[in-house]
Amino acid sequence: MDQHYLVAVAVPCPLRRSFHYKVESTEPPQPGQRVRVEFRHQQLTGVITDLPKTADVAHDKLKPAELLDTEPLLDAALLHLCQWAANYYQHPIGEVLAAAMPTNLRGDSQAGLPTETRWQLTIEGLGLPEGAPKGARKQADLLTFLRAGSRRAEDISAAGFSKSVLNGLHDKGLVESVDIAERQTFDAPLGEPPLTLNSEQTAALNAVPATGFWVGLLEGVTGSGKTEVYLQAIEKQLAAGRQALVLVPEIGLTPQTVQRFANRFKVPVGMLHSGVADGGRSETWQRARAGLDRIIIGTRSAIFTPLKHPGIIIVDEEHDGSYKQQEGFRYSARDLAVYRAHQLHIPLLLGSATPSLESLNNAIAGRYQHLHLTQRPAGRQAANLSTLDIRAKQLRDGLAEASIQALRGALQRGEQAMVFINRRGFAPVLMCHFCGWQSKCPRCDARMTLHRQPRHLHCHHCDLQRRVPSQCPDCKAPELTPMGAGTERTEEFLSRQFPDYPVIRIDRDATRSQRQFTEALNEIHSGRPCLLVGTQMLAKGHHFPRVSTVIIVDADGGLFSADFRGTERMAQLITQVAGRAGREQLRGQVLLQTHNGDHPYLQTLIQQGYAPLARLLLSERQLTGLPPNSSMTLLRAESKRPENALQFLQQARQLAEQLMPPSPQFRYLGPLPAAMEKRQDRFRFLLQLQADRRPAMQQFLPRWIAELEQLALAKRVRWSLDVDPQET
Ligand code: ADP
Ligand code: ZN
Ligand code: ZN
Repeated sequence: MDQHYLVAVAVPCPLRRSFHYKVESTEPPQPGQRVRVEFRHQQLTGVITDLPKTADVAHDKLKPAELLDTEPLLDAALLHLCQWAANYYQHPIGEVLAAAMPTNLRGDSQAGLPTETRWQLTIEGLGLPEGAPKGARKQADLLTFLRAGSRRAEDISAAGFSKSVLNGLHDKGLVESVDIAERQTFDAPLGEPPLTLNSEQTAALNAVPATGFWVGLLEGVTGSGKTEVYLQAIEKQLAAGRQALVLVPEIGLTPQTVQRFANRFKVPVGMLHSGVADGGRSETWQRARAGLDRIIIGTRSAIFTPLKHPGIIIVDEEHDGSYKQQEGFRYSARDLAVYRAHQLHIPLLLGSATPSLESLNNAIAGRYQHLHLTQRPAGRQAANLSTLDIRAKQLRDGLAEASIQALRGALQRGEQAMVFINRRGFAPVLMCHFCGWQSKCPRCDARMTLHRQPRHLHCHHCDLQRRVPSQCPDCKAPELTPMGAGTERTEEFLSRQFPDYPVIRIDRDATRSQRQFTEALNEIHSGRPCLLVGTQMLAKGHHFPRVSTVIIVDADGGLFSADFRGTERMAQLITQVAGRAGREQLRGQVLLQTHNGDHPYLQTLIQQGYAPLARLLLSERQLTGLPPNSSMTLLRAESKRPENALQFLQQARQLAEQLMPPSPQFRYLGPLPAAMEKRQDRFRFLLQLQADRRPAMQQFLPRWIAELEQLALAKRVRWSLDVDPQET
């Protein structure tokens, strides 16, 4: 008999609430099931978040919701995580849930994998010693048989086990059936033996508990063996029948990391990153949910992967900016990982050679256990970092003579060398020498970059592309001059300078396809002498053992950045780039081209390294009350009419001050123009809020947002909240 049930549904819309519908069904619906609903004359797919007792509209006004799933697609833990995140970031729950699901499942497509029933050991079954259960030989043999991996019912009977033996184990809760095809089977979890850990690695590994909430910050210089610690921590979890979730910054660009996991373990490994097609993502997501994929490696959004047997979460390169979503639902996957580990009662390992000040602060305060790896494997030394004063020096396409000499020296010794330059394209601006015309973007407060491959002007902020004018648009002078250098120009210059050696460019343009990128990496790994030119993509996770020399073209950018994180980022970047050099027998040399060689930050970095500089920056943040010593939130607003955005923020500030009067513990700044005030024809402003205590901020935000939503201007400007912003 069908019955009507009242359900609260989160629909993908920008409203911070759920909506009531009725479901007609024989059994009570469950939170986490998807439903098809009519919402404002549209058919949308929503998720049941709750089964409320009373409806917020009259019963005869309730519209029907049609169940799409027979069981919850989002399990209770994941649903809870999403609700927590929606609340913490004050973001509409419907959009949060949509972000948590693979694209394929956001619509009404059927969940589920190709079906095939298989039997596998439960956690309890896996936990039994060899030979158990005692006194039931046949059952014990079947347990041993299934220890190697899941099996189809036919295979079990073909191996001589009767149905009653299987049922006996099932009744004891030692085996379970899974209705999902398993593509890979595995015989033993290990594909290759683990390395023998050194004493620091051993200490780090032993610090990781088997279960229970715990956060460790593994601070280890590049090449000190962090990945090996991850691998062995995962191995322990796999042996206990549990899964591991590994977050990496940009997986498509770090095939080596993935390869190491795949080589080490023979268990099914699932990938979740932008390079995987939608179908594959949704399959991995569901395989993880069913407990089939035992290791899941993914980028930011993989933090929302459901895990049947959660064991451990690892966040590699935890300082990396890509963990923070910079638009829409602006969450930090690293911070959500902390919540998730807490929620699931499992350990979380954050690893980096250059930890974020946030994590460092938590470690110093004792909230995270601080683990150190300071030694490199025998025969490997840290690169030698030094500044190269370029004041009053003649530069050739951005490079000082001494830098060119250093590159030449490396090539002549048969080594590889790398030039790091944080700008892609040929030149950051095209200019007229006669009248001063510049290639400005008509839609942004920015200049359009000149690209030569293919030739065009490109705004990196709004993506506008234009033909390169053949003469000055203002004074008709016949010639325009590219000013400054980007990766393309450096590549061209080096090709002319060193015609006998390959020059490999690594930036977003040059590596648009995975194939091109792989080819570039292969050339580098061939070990032949060559030059690499690239952006920060070079700083991410690659091992370049034959690179002995690194030139950092502009070390000054971060020192004078308007963003309070500028120096932290610069130090991380330099340290990461430097870590790529001289990883094997070659002693690396890193030259920082700078106009500020005696700047105390640069000096600290060069003489003492990242860790002391990070502590210096941390004590400074303490004095200035900036994060991590306070909790920051930005209210961003943008509009084609600047006065609207500005006025909205002024009203927002007034409302805020009524709820929470300004005080030394709760501070307001702004409205201020954003770092780039005009972008894509919209004028952007922000209001900055800082609270000494996070709970004060968290209690304040929902009350404030509720009032903001009532403002007339709230419907006329685009606004968004950025909790714990990475960019100000
Ligand atoms: P990180 O992740 O800290 O950059 P990796 O884990 O990639 O460092 O280790 C760098 C190199 O050192 C790798 O080639 C790895 O195989 C090797 N290595 C790591 N730990 C050990 C060890 N205990 N014994 C021998 N080699 C090791
Ligand atoms: Zn001109
Ligand atoms: Zn633009």
